[in-house]
Amino acid sequence: MPFKNLQTDQAMVDKIWNRLDTSHISAILVTHSHYDHLMDVPYIHQKLRSVPSIYGSSTCYYTLQHQTYNLPTAKLVDVEAEASVAGKPGKWYYPLPDSSYRFMPLLAEHAPHVRVAFLDMNIKLYEGWYDSVPARLSKPKDWKEGQTLSYLLDFMGADRKTVKVRLSVITSACNPPSGFLPELAPADQHPVDISLLCVASHKYVENYPAKLLQNMNPRFMIASHWEDFFLRYDRKKKRGVRFTNLNKFIAKMKAIEQLENKWILSEPLVKTTFLY
Ligand SMILES: [Zn+2]
Repeated sequence: MPFKNLQTDQAMVDKIWNRLDTSHISAILVTHSHYDHLMDVPYIHQKLRSVPSIYGSSTCYYTLQHQTYNLPTAKLVDVEAEASVAGKPGKWYYPLPDSSYRFMPLLAEHAPHVRVAFLDMNIKLYEGWYDSVPARLSKPKDWKEGQTLSYLLDFMGADRKTVKVRLSVITSACNPPSGFLPELAPADQHPVDISLLCVASHKYVENYPAKLLQNMNPRFMIASHWEDFFLRYDRKKKRGVRFTNLNKFIAKMKAIEQLENKWILSEPLVKTTFLY
């Protein structure tokens, strides 16, 4: 991957896209604005006939207004000010008029990417934020992290009031209490059915993911963001994302009794179906 003039590999996105059923996509939730999370969103959005809204931080909101993207501003939603903070619930967003699902953004954080031993420091790349539209987007550092968010995502029952299935989505390893569930009103309480957690940078957060899983107590967990996306994916030879030891994460997971046989590594291009 070249590190200047960084842009979406449209042929690659097309290839993957053609294997997916995208007809039901009605919202795009962005957790933070680094290029590996945000850069392909405008192209994906352009491919969706439903023209969904894109929800994310203030930095995400401004980054996506860059002239090259030509996205309708009315479809960009800055949810940062409405996020749950320090256990206090945030706003529930209902992307569809039928209220069949909803989500709440939560302020989260992003673990460092790499340790520099001789400085005795953990370093996080591409920090910072935008409060206006960036002048250029060409190098990885131009996609600034902004405020990292996580999301609670509820699929509602037929009455549109009770929660049928709850997902928690966390795409960056984070230090507790960041990532902990907010204290929800009694009517909004429901166990977490599926927790989607990030593998990358797990070693830079103490007791991750054990402490988070203790708080969340999910029925099932999906470990994501673990693969080395700089290389062609090889199912037989699982290679962890740079600076992350996948086997050590798997060993940590095996030590968590609560989740015995109740978690998987997400598999690129493999559809996972949950029956409940
Ligand atoms: Zn990141």
